[in-house]
Amino acid sequence: MLTRTDPDDARQGMHDLVRRLFPLCRSITGDGVRETLRIVGEQIPLTVHEVPSGAKAFDWTVPKEWNIRDAYIKNAQGDRVVDFRVNNLHIVSYSVPVRRTMRLAELQPHLHSLPDQPDLIPYRTSYYEETWGFCLPHRQRQALLDGDYEVVIDSTLSEGSLSYGECLLPGANGDEVLIYTHTCHPSLANDNLAGIAVCTFLARRLVSAKRRYTYRFVFGPGTIGSLVWLSRNADRVTRVRHGLVAVLLGDAGSLRYKRSRSGDAEVDHAVQHALKQSGTTYDVEPFTPYGYDERQFGSPGFNLPVGRLTRSPNSGYPEYHTSADNLALIRPESLAGSLAVCARAVEILENNGRFVNTSPFGEPQLGRRGLYRTIGGESSPAREMAMLWTLNLSDGGHSLLEIADRAGLDFELIRRAADELMDAGLLTTA
Ligand code: ZN
Repeated sequence: MLTRTDPDDARQGMHDLVRRLFPLCRSITGDGVRETLRIVGEQIPLTVHEVPSGAKAFDWTVPKEWNIRDAYIKNAQGDRVVDFRVNNLHIVSYSVPVRRTMRLAELQPHLHSLPDQPDLIPYRTSYYEETWGFCLPHRQRQALLDGDYEVVIDSTLSEGSLSYGECLLPGANGDEVLIYTHTCHPSLANDNLAGIAVCTFLARRLVSAKRRYTYRFVFGPGTIGSLVWLSRNADRVTRVRHGLVAVLLGDAGSLRYKRSRSGDAEVDHAVQHALKQSGTTYDVEPFTPYGYDERQFGSPGFNLPVGRLTRSPNSGYPEYHTSADNLALIRPESLAGSLAVCARAVEILENNGRFVNTSPFGEPQLGRRGLYRTIGGESSPAREMAMLWTLNLSDGGHSLLEIADRAGLDFELIRRAADELMDAGLLTTA
């Protein structure tokens, strides 16, 4: 069972993985992503795909590969006043190489800071426009004195490739569950290392589990990564029965599920049931064509049943896309709670099904068949109700999950009732 063991080792393991990946300078392409995938690949079987610069993905094109070794702004005294080696957020991701001396006024248009959060470094990118820039705390920016500054960005933007990782776990049938997390942010912890850690450990558990479905975990950059994956997997897309974008899962915020485009997919009900069973507060929101990779999976040409699980969502917490989204923001118990809900949702999908009552004319006599057993001398009303609901709604049209939701009972209880009724010959597969 996926959800039975309390994942103390997973809790620590996920936190350790986030800490280990944190220093790497990731972007939508480059060696930081490759190193990230290599480390994830120590935990789970991972195939790394390289898609060349210039490759088409529908209306998009894989950009040049970006790598960076060093970047700084030095003052007239030779001090590095802004230093990429201290924090990789200091550089605008995809900055072109620069090596020149300039006046502060000339430098200013290339500086980015947050007047409302003057002690934090913002996270900025410029993937599709060739430019350069530095990010720094607003307080530090205001303290810069007039004068000459030596500006160096030792980066390369060249023909290369976009890297993404796939963990494929074959199941008894070819129907697939697709789980996507993005891998394109530098030293930010909740966005996106928490998602990487939860997906890695969910895959780890599934490696040794008996699987009905085939699971495909994709670790790729946001937007361009899911587009590239979709464009290269057109033949597989029809096999995706359920999907989840799992990101931003490590902060103290409560869990938040965003429904798939249809709003009524099995994965929507499975995740919501798992959230309800978790006993913690949570939110559910409808699909919107904004956010993360769910908008690509839910574009009209694909319309895949892919929901999204986060804690505090994009722009939904003050530390979002700043240097305060660091290791201090990540809670091991939040990672563990996120993993538990994902694992329970997967278990529901694995065990869901439709059945038919073989004795639908009036209630069959359960006592005669030994199905009204007592537990510890007392009868179990929930177990009896589970049997009655399962018998009543098993007309081939309702799944066990639908029955559980309608009965207000845990899915596991309904599943056990269905197993007992099948053993007694009162239920058969639809
Ligand atoms: Zn982000």
